[in-house]
Amino acid sequence: GNTAETRLKLTELIRQQAGQSTFGDCGLEETYEQIRNEMRRFAEDNVTPFAHEWHLKNDYIPLEIISQMAELGVFGLTIPEEYGGLGLGKESMCVVSEELSRAYIGVGSLGTRSEIAAELILCGGTQEQKEKWLPLIASGEILPTAVFTEPNTGSDLASLKTRAVRKGDVWKVSGNKTWITHPVRADVMTLLVRTDPDQDGYKGLSMLLAEKPRGTDEDPFPADGMSGGEIEVLGYRGMKEYEIAFDGFEVKSENLLGGEEGQGFKQLMQTFEGARIQTAARALGVAQAALDLGLRYAEERIQFGKQLIAFPRVSDKLAMMAVEVMIARQLTYFSAWEKDSGRRCDLEAGMAKLLGARVAWAAADNALQIHGGNGFALEYPVSRVLCDARILNIFEGAGEIQAQVIARRILETRGID
Ligand SMILES: Cc1cc2nc3c(=O)[nH]c(=O)nc-3n(C[C@H](O)[C@H](O)[C@H](O)COP(=O)(O)OP(=O)(O)OC[C@H]3O[C@@H](n4cnc5c(N)ncnc54)[C@H](O)[C@@H]3O)c2cc1C
Repeated sequence: GNTAETRLKLTELIRQQAGQSTFGDCGLEETYEQIRNEMRRFAEDNVTPFAHEWHLKNDYIPLEIISQMAELGVFGLTIPEEYGGLGLGKESMCVVSEELSRAYIGVGSLGTRSEIAAELILCGGTQEQKEKWLPLIASGEILPTAVFTEPNTGSDLASLKTRAVRKGDVWKVSGNKTWITHPVRADVMTLLVRTDPDQDGYKGLSMLLAEKPRGTDEDPFPADGMSGGEIEVLGYRGMKEYEIAFDGFEVKSENLLGGEEGQGFKQLMQTFEGARIQTAARALGVAQAALDLGLRYAEERIQFGKQLIAFPRVSDKLAMMAVEVMIARQLTYFSAWEKDSGRRCDLEAGMAKLLGARVAWAAADNALQIHGGNGFALEYPVSRVLCDARILNIFEGAGEIQAQVIARRILETRGID
């Protein structure tokens, strides 16, 4: 059981495995462990040593890193081979997201937008749209951004107001979006808009694949009918968040996803399982990073003539972090396995995302506590990990919304409406 002796033994085992990819056998196939090791090497050489500086300076992740990730196939992992991807399953996406987020959540999140855009197009796109966009996304030649949230519409996305009106061979878009991650360097927006003003719920929504030129800090949106400003944030930096105003911004009419109006919300819902699994995997990476930092500090810091890890209240924290990370990891991989097997997994994916976000926050909080006063100093990477962990319970379905979805599904499976 959960006794002092068991926790102590667990801490000893963790210390023996320090520096390894995960504490304990995750039960994944060998191929996935190879992918994990490859990502880990890449991240340790190219990301970990620089992440904290990028965070402190609010710098973009260098384009060079994005090119290297593209070469490693990160943006086309789950895109079928016929469209230029690697044709792997969601489990591969989990280990890749996890290892990259362990180095820096920003880097682990670069693939999120490509994953969402690719799934939208795969599930809802026309054959021409698949042939045109998927190879470009898979190769990393184009970077997508997800443009859904509005100032007055976050969790209740179905009531969003941004309008798109068909004028000849273009859609003219007007309205305000906010909290858009990585829009400046993106080439295409998956843009959720209202095409039917008579339907004020989800039925009036459509998804556009809106092309845009890349911008810079000085001129973020060099396109007619599009402007915006940066939102400064606590953590989750490296891609930058923006509020965006559209005023007659034009999108080619052929870029209506699926070629049919009114399908936008349904199309987006088809991506929820995958997006939640991917966010759960990002949470695992952040939680593991907190555990790595906490463990290292507890071994290096001496108080009362002993390493901090010799004090049960410190080692207990590390033991429980390792246990919780492993539980969240197993639930996340199981959801990915269910998804890859073609089974419905919204319940499991929602649970994995909810649990992962909580575990990441608890791990970051505990790792910071182990650092004592130093944890509160901006100079120490654990301060960044705490800020990065906090976002996970807000986006991709806030914790409260996730809990509601889970509860509703449990009642449904019990035949209660
Ligand atoms: C760093 C960051 C990056 C983001 N990136 C993107 C992006 O790239 N693209 C994009 O489109 N959006 C993005 N978002 C937006 C994000 O998806 C929203 O913040 C999220 O959906 C929550 O919406 P909201 O902020 O409007 O909160 P609200 O919906 O106003 O919710 C506020 C609080 O009330 C709770 N709440 C709301 N409704 C209920 C209910 N029915 N029952 C119980 N509790 C409820 C929520 O859980 C939350 O705690 C990002 C946000 C952040 C902070």
